[in-house]
Amino acid sequence: MSTAGRPQGEIRRAQAEGNGVDRDDLARRATFEGSYLGDRSRLPDEARMECKICWYVYDPAEGDAQWQVPPGTPFSALPAHWTCPQCEGAATQFMVLAGARP
Ligand SMILES: [Zn+2]
Repeated sequence: MSTAGRPQGEIRRAQAEGNGVDRDDLARRATFEGSYLGDRSRLPDEARMECKICWYVYDPAEGDAQWQVPPGTPFSALPAHWTCPQCEGAATQFMVLAGARP
């Protein structure tokens, strides 16, 4: 029974704590490449983000004309439904671009 699901109580507790986000899953992702762990609030406002599917770079200084995102909008403030303007990849597919520090 170890891989066939978890007790109801544990699932309910996980949903209450993290909007359905599994804490173990977050821990696993912590070691994954340059990923920002899907937690936008941890991103610095000036962080440029690169799509790991098509290499599109979101620059907060430029915004995103396709989504009518005004210049100066940090990645963390993008609409929840925002996707890559080139490949429509999910925002969680983006990685922090190395060397973005001033
Ligand atoms: Zn893309």
